Amino acid sequence: MRTLIEGARVLDPGKLDGYKTVLIEGHTITAVLDPSDPVPGNGQDLVRIDARGLVLVPGLMDIHVHLREPGHEYKETIATGMAAAARGGFTAVCAMPNTCPVNDNAQVTAFILEKARAGKGARVYPAGAVTRGSAGTHLAEIRDMQLAGIKAVSDDGRPVENAQLMRRALEYSGGLSLPVFVHAEDLSLVNGGAMNEGPAATLWGIPGIPNAAEAVMVARDILLSRLTGAHVHFCHISCEESIDLIRTAKQQNVRVTCETAPHYFTLTDEDVKGYDTRFKMNPPLRSGKDRQAVIQGLSDGTVDVIASDHAPHSKEEKDLEFDRAAFGIVGLETALPLSLKLVQDGHLTLPDLVCKMSKHPARILGIPNDIIPGNPADLTLIDLEGKWVIDPDRFVSKSRNTPFAGMAVQGRAVATMVGGTLVYDRRYD
Ligand SMILES: [Zn+2]
Repeated sequence: MRTLIEGARVLDPGKLDGYKTVLIEGHTITAVLDPSDPVPGNGQDLVRIDARGLVLVPGLMDIHVHLREPGHEYKETIATGMAAAARGGFTAVCAMPNTCPVNDNAQVTAFILEKARAGKGARVYPAGAVTRGSAGTHLAEIRDMQLAGIKAVSDDGRPVENAQLMRRALEYSGGLSLPVFVHAEDLSLVNGGAMNEGPAATLWGIPGIPNAAEAVMVARDILLSRLTGAHVHFCHISCEESIDLIRTAKQQNVRVTCETAPHYFTLTDEDVKGYDTRFKMNPPLRSGKDRQAVIQGLSDGTVDVIASDHAPHSKEEKDLEFDRAAFGIVGLETALPLSLKLVQDGHLTLPDLVCKMSKHPARILGIPNDIIPGNPADLTLIDLEGKWVIDPDRFVSKSRNTPFAGMAVQGRAVATMVGGTLVYDRRYD
C-alpha cells in the first residue's frame, strides 16, 4: 500500500522545515517531494491524507513510561499503554523495568517485546534493570538483555544506593554503549516525605522532601560519569539545584543528559491543595522558583528531553490518605498539549520542542528518527491550533490518575503513524 501525506508543514529540526508531500510505501518513507513534484507511479493505489494546516514531525518518543506488565495489569497493560501512547502522539516509548517480575533478565525482555508485537500503537523499547530485582546488590544480566532488545538500563523507581555498584554499572554499560537512566533520590534525605519540603508542606502538615534528596544523587552520578566516561541520563529532574549541577557538568563536557516531565514546568507545590493525591508524585511538585529553573533549563538546552513518567495507578491506590497514597500520575495522553504551552508562552520554539520530544530521545536510545527516504514511517501529525479540555474519561490508558482533569489546553496529535500504519487517527477517536 502507498500513502501520501499532503499539505503539511514538514518539520524535522536541523534538516527540513517547509511544505512537503511525504510518500510512504509499505513500512517505509520512500520520498519527500515538493508539492508541485509529480508522484511516482499512476497514483490509483494511493491513500491520500489531507494534512493542510497541520505539522508533520518525526515520531514523538517518550523515554520514561511505566507500562506495568508483567505483574500489575490492573493498572496498565503493554497493549493499553501502547494505545495511550499513540493517542498522545508517541510512536515509541521506553518502558521502565520495575514490573513484577522486574525486567532484569532476557526472558522478561523477550516477554515484553512479544506482547508489544501483538499490540497496536507505539513501539516499545524496554529498559532493563541495573541490578538484579532492582535490589541494589548485584548487577543484572545486562548483556543478555541487550541481546534480547533493551535500549537502556535503569533501576527507576529506586536509586542505586551503593556508589561502587553504580561505578561498576557505568563501566559495564558504557562498554556496551547503553545509557544508564538515573532515578536520582537519596532515600535517607527523603525520610518518609510525601510532598515538597517548604511552606505548603508545613501548611498541610505533610512531611517534606528537600530538593537535596534529588540533587545529592545528581552530583554523585555526575562525578561517576566523569570517572567512567559513561553516558548518564537523569530522569524526571524537578529542581533548581539539579539543573545547576547538570548545566555545569555539560559545560565541562561530562557525558550527561536529562529529562523533565510536564508536571514540573506546569504545576508547583502550591497546587497541592486539600490533600488531593492526584498531585502526589516522586519527585514531588516543587516551588515556583524550581518551576522557573526547569523552564530556564529547557530554554537554554540544559534539559534535553521532555518525558511523561507515565505512572498508572488504580483508584484504590490513590484514594488514600496523602502519605499512604501511591506516587505518580499518568502522562502519555497529556504530555504533548502541556508541552506545547511552552511554545505558546515563548519559552521554546517549535523546532526546540520537537527536539526534546522526538530527536533527542531517539539519539539517547540510539534509534534513527529522521524524515528521510529509507527510514521507517514513524510520524506524528500535530494540530497546533485546536483548543480542548483534558477529560480523563476519554483516556485509553487503564488509569485516570491525573492532576490535569478539566484543564484547558491548545494543540494535540491528530494522527500517529508507526511503520506506515496509522495507529491513532483522531477522526475515529
Ligand atoms: Zn523514577
